[in-house]
Amino acid sequence: MDNCIFCKIIEGTIPAKKVYEDEEIVAIEDIKPEAPHHLLLIPKKHIVNALDLTPADDALVGRVYRVAASLARERGVDERGFRIVQNTNADAGQSVFHIHFHFLAGRHMAWPPG
Ligand code: 5GP
Ligand code: ZN
Repeated sequence: MDNCIFCKIIEGTIPAKKVYEDEEIVAIEDIKPEAPHHLLLIPKKHIVNALDLTPADDALVGRVYRVAASLARERGVDERGFRIVQNTNADAGQSVFHIHFHFLAGRHMAWPPG
């Protein structure tokens, strides 16, 4: 997708710190980390947000969660815990309109979120 920053990161035309990649997903370090571990799990397919998902994407979303669990174990934050956040549209604060899942860990996180 033209003018999509995450499509450009996936293609490699914009640099990012990749920490994981498979055929369907990349995980990168967030450029403005909000926790000691702040990764973005990004499906390679250009999906805008949760409202743009179709039944064909069901397995992909499940895979995102399994990759997150695997990264949590790899980083030793599985026992203490982690948070996965997907912001959709303005009230949630979505700023990049290519679906991504924030992986946050390494500090206590408040509930409810701000
Ligand atoms: P959203 O607000 O859409 O849920 O999250 C977008 C996230 O992407 C933000 O946490 C922001 O810091 C991150 N981000 C925006 N541009 C870039 C970039 O060029 N590189 C990386 N690594 N992260 C980015
Ligand atoms: Zn995109």
